[in-house]
Amino acid sequence: MDTSDYSTHSKRYKKHVDYESEEWTALKQRRRELDGNRCVFCGRPGFTCRNGLQTHHLTYERLGHEDIRDIISVCGSCHGALENRMVLKPGQYDPRTPEAQERFKDYLEYINRVLDKEGSEKGD
Ligand SMILES: [Zn+2]
Ligand SMILES: [Zn+2]
Repeated sequence: MDTSDYSTHSKRYKKHVDYESEEWTALKQRRRELDGNRCVFCGRPGFTCRNGLQTHHLTYERLGHEDIRDIISVCGSCHGALENRMVLKPGQYDPRTPEAQERFKDYLEYINRVLDKEGSEKGD
């Protein structure tokens, strides 16, 4: 994952993604269900987050026309830490550690297999 991208994320995101569009809302919702309504890093359930789960881009390749694999569900503190715009309190989960990144990689592989399976079943 390219961390240099994170700092410019918010600006680019606001410029290109229509937060209110039905398409975006539906995609976000689908991704949340896929992620079990939890933060993909610390596993915190969405209902315990002040403003619910947030959506983070893994890639901007399809900005404005995202694929479900382009985004992930994250809690506010993991999101802030990922984009280096928040200082974590002691004891808070840090998604930037090599261990966290390794776990995340495994998780993504698993989810992508689930998506591949869905895709091939749809083709029948
Ligand atoms: Zn989290
Ligand atoms: Zn983000």
